[in-house]
Amino acid sequence: MHPFEYVRATDVGHAVATAVAGRAAAYLAGGTTQVDLMKDGVFSPDVLIDITRLPLRGVSVDGGLLRVGALTTMEELAAEPVVVTRLPVVRESLLLAASPQLRNMATVGGNLLQRTRCRYYRDPSTACNKRDPGSGCGAMNGHHRMHAILGTSAGCIATHASDLAVALVALDAVVHVRDAGGERAVPLTGFYLRPGDDPGQENVLGPGELVTSVEVPLLPEGARSGYLKVRDRASYEFALASAGVALEITDGITRDARVALGGLATVPWRSREAEDVLRDAPATLEVFTAAAEAALSGASPRPGNAFKVELGKRTIVRALSMVAGGQP
Ligand SMILES: Cc1cc2nc3c(=O)[nH]c(=O)nc-3n(C[C@H](O)[C@H](O)[C@H](O)COP(=O)(O)OP(=O)(O)OC[C@H]3O[C@@H](n4cnc5c(N)ncnc54)[C@H](O)[C@@H]3O)c2cc1C
Repeated sequence: MHPFEYVRATDVGHAVATAVAGRAAAYLAGGTTQVDLMKDGVFSPDVLIDITRLPLRGVSVDGGLLRVGALTTMEELAAEPVVVTRLPVVRESLLLAASPQLRNMATVGGNLLQRTRCRYYRDPSTACNKRDPGSGCGAMNGHHRMHAILGTSAGCIATHASDLAVALVALDAVVHVRDAGGERAVPLTGFYLRPGDDPGQENVLGPGELVTSVEVPLLPEGARSGYLKVRDRASYEFALASAGVALEITDGITRDARVALGGLATVPWRSREAEDVLRDAPATLEVFTAAAEAALSGASPRPGNAFKVELGKRTIVRALSMVAGGQP
């Protein structure tokens, strides 16, 4: 392993100042992704900044807003009473991810910032534009069964792996970040970047920017939400396709709809196309099917993952049916 300096940050200012001091730096939260990347030689920082002692852990509710510290663990967030009652889509996205052991270590900030599970990215002996710009994409003509069909570019088809991010994108969550210059708030819908010509730049964070918290607007009383994850085995597996949905239905009409997709796209994918079909329309199977068609209309699959177009549609229809109260 590449030698590195370990620094335990004493406060947020110390963390961000260390991160921008001129050497390649990375933050260490739960370490469930970061340590693997370093051991495998995928990313070799000169300085590893341990942020686990910073006062960024805990959940509070302020009016209609849930505030989540970046160091809150996935398991803690899933157990939060207001998440259980008002944000089932968040709770389910967490509890369908990883394993209990991992969720007790892994933090909300680390989950949102985790790197792709693309096997070419994680194997330094193969070509990967995300890890090694300009080297090519091994997945394009290689094994890409798990890869993206939405938001892809000629240089990268890696999916974003976070389930939680899908739920939070659906809910219009806002991420608070800090650097040496101060704090700013970034809507999660604009936080992740599609690969385009620069697959290595996955989000809008500048060098050394630290995620400090996430704000999640609570759904209105009476809204229903849920997260459906389709995968190769029932636990401890990433999504082939997933859907986080929230619906407000009165008198059989969908008044408001949120639809976001995972496992299918290079970023946590909000489908405004599906939402437009659902809004002010009857909450019926026919409308749900039309919404799914709209969501996948821009898909550009490779031969090995063309099955995801149909799988994605069925996942959306089933998620909407479950949340609307119909048959799964
Ligand atoms: C076997 C396995 C199965 C998994 N299955 C799933 C799954 O099904 N669904 C899913 O969503 N996830 C899954 N994961 C991923 C897991 O959820 C992440 O590894 C975890 O959430 C990362 O959190 P962490 O605190 O350990 O982050 P770390 O590993 O410490 O950090 C991850 C990245 O985020 C950066 N970072 C961490 N905190 C901050 C911050 N506050 N500000 C800025 N940058 C930060 C780090 O520098 C690093 O680049 C799985 C992981 C494993 C190992």
